[in-house]
Amino acid sequence: MYKFLIKGVVQGVGFRPYIYNACVKAGLNGYVQNTGDGVTVVVDDDDAFLELLKDIPPLARIDSYSAEPVEMEIEGFSIIQSSGRGQEKGSAEIPPDLFLCEDCLRELKKKGDRREGYFFITCTNCGPRFSIAERSPYDRETTSMEEFKMCKECRKEYTNPTDRRYHAQTIACHDCGPKITLHSDGKPSGGIKEAAELIAKGEVVAVKGVGGFHLAARADTARRVRDITRRQHKPYAVMVKDAEMAREIAEVSDKEQRLLESVERPIVLLKKKKDLVSVSELDTIGVMLPYTALHHLLFEHLDTPLVMTSANMPDWPITTEKQQQFVGHILDHDRKILNHVDDSVIKEVAGKTLMIRRSRGYVPKSIPLPWPPELGDAVALGAEMNNTFCIVKDGRAILSQHMGTLSNYDSYENMKKAVKKALDMSGLRSDTVKTVICDMHPGYNTTAYAEELAKELGAQLVKVQHHKAHAYAAAAEHGLKSFAAIVCDGLGYGEDGNIWGGEIFIDDKRVAHLEEHVQLGGDAAAQRPARMLMSILSKFMTEEGMRKIMLQHFDGELVTGLERQMAAGFNCPTTTSCGRVLDAAAAFLGICEERTYEGRPAMMLEAKSAEPYEIEPVINRNGDLDVLLTTPLFKWLVLNSDKDPARLAATVQMYIAKGLYMMAAEHAQGRPIVFSGGCAYNKIMTKYLVEKGVLVNEKVPCGDGGVAFGQVAYYASKSCAERSTE
Ligand SMILES: [Zn+2]
Ligand SMILES: [Zn+2]
Repeated sequence: MYKFLIKGVVQGVGFRPYIYNACVKAGLNGYVQNTGDGVTVVVDDDDAFLELLKDIPPLARIDSYSAEPVEMEIEGFSIIQSSGRGQEKGSAEIPPDLFLCEDCLRELKKKGDRREGYFFITCTNCGPRFSIAERSPYDRETTSMEEFKMCKECRKEYTNPTDRRYHAQTIACHDCGPKITLHSDGKPSGGIKEAAELIAKGEVVAVKGVGGFHLAARADTARRVRDITRRQHKPYAVMVKDAEMAREIAEVSDKEQRLLESVERPIVLLKKKKDLVSVSELDTIGVMLPYTALHHLLFEHLDTPLVMTSANMPDWPITTEKQQQFVGHILDHDRKILNHVDDSVIKEVAGKTLMIRRSRGYVPKSIPLPWPPELGDAVALGAEMNNTFCIVKDGRAILSQHMGTLSNYDSYENMKKAVKKALDMSGLRSDTVKTVICDMHPGYNTTAYAEELAKELGAQLVKVQHHKAHAYAAAAEHGLKSFAAIVCDGLGYGEDGNIWGGEIFIDDKRVAHLEEHVQLGGDAAAQRPARMLMSILSKFMTEEGMRKIMLQHFDGELVTGLERQMAAGFNCPTTTSCGRVLDAAAAFLGICEERTYEGRPAMMLEAKSAEPYEIEPVINRNGDLDVLLTTPLFKWLVLNSDKDPARLAATVQMYIAKGLYMMAAEHAQGRPIVFSGGCAYNKIMTKYLVEKGVLVNEKVPCGDGGVAFGQVAYYASKSCAERSTE
């Protein structure tokens, strides 16, 4: 007989039942078994078996397999108990959390069905996975479903090879599965229907979902959610009943509809049709469809879009427990969330699918990477904001779920725990991890933790410059060895100790950047865009002229204070950040005065844009590094300030995109060009560059959520290059 070891996404996706049924049908003898590493299949006919692998279930993915002859004799075909529990922790990929499939949805609504109206109906093709997994291999015993003992009926389905729930680890029903209860002011007060009635009345209810709690409220009562979370402006996502309801509030292209309805069920940023200013002040709105039975059941009693935002205070991790809630009404259930996962967020720009947040539905799906086996396993800790970390195991990168902003202590502690758990889940140990990678910034919490972790694992520590990580993240996605990269974002620690954020690289060599400006007051300039504006205007305006403009933003005393601060050079670091230039333009055009959430001024600038005017970028080629000057842009803005602000707004973004492209194309000398960094979410800049043939990230976020992937890509690429020159 032959023994196959199959690796990839082969657990928790109906793979074993498929193998079982297909082998029985084909008359093969042998068995199938989950192991820590994947799935083992023993069969008596290897050719016939390989034929069967051509038609595996849609959610399964085979990365590799090996086969060897074994001395064995087996009559018939069976599924046998998983091995590896407890002792040998495995590397089999745990599948991401999935939507509710059509079959389950039909049963949910079917009169008299055993699971009619049951909030946690699932099958082998749908339901949570990663969020309930404690370790690998993925089995009932290794998930938070372990504590629910199957009833007779469920057990029958679970052990019936022809049933859709054959070996469905999330199998449950009204009798034996998790229970849901509404708590109002600490007392049990009903269930889903009662919660929906509260929402209909305008109340805010905390609803336990797949990867954490949401605050749910009618979209037209979003103000109440803002009061509770103290989020003044940050756009919320809404959940709509179906695609039709999505079209009532937003424009939905065919591709966007496919994304909305995909098994990952992300939040898709759509062009707003209705005003809904209290939900989103931008021209877009984040929309998602129901992805659990619980959501579908809520919509049986509600006929309006719902704000669904993660139930946590700004910068804190998403909450997963009832005790952490801060509203009076809580719809809670007793299935534990073992891995928190925020909703994923996606935006379509110029035909490209940009990942703003890669989390539920995508994590922990691995991403292939050119990675020489002798590099061993590795961990990269990513960036400080919108953190994700990345594990490399067997040459595949596993990017973590969204960890939030790590300057918040709870988020930081939470990330450390998640790293430990991910190492454990993937079977990484101190004797396999050779490298820990982090950002170059000396003050980042991730840097401190990387030093600690490297010591603990006995691994080498490698530091990677922030924007190079962005560049290599994009290059690795497209399999590029040599390339030009345009990287634009808010900030990253540069190799010269300054703040970078508008950079051009040829491979890892910086060849050009945006003009340096003083960031007046350091971080305060990011908070108040007008400080940035003042620093730029002071380069070419008379004191009197500048004061006139600045008095529209600050009172006279503050302007005088800022002038003195600038003259003294007090707390005035320089920056090449693209984000800060966009901020300054947003302030000049009166579009945004304060950054109350990350990226706000630049996003408002984008939202308020119309057709750009034609102006030529000014490039300084006198030094070692080419520089795209942005002072001439502001000179032009001042001279043309009587023109349409929406067109002026667009001109600013176009000027930068055009100028950066000119410099990149000149240096590229035929190499492909990539565009990455947080500004690559900007549709004006990205559309222009994509039309020029520039490549962007589609698998990992181009923002800081993709930095960890870029860090491992950079390290792998450097190691390969060193090897080839040896
Ligand atoms: Zn299902
Ligand atoms: Zn049951």
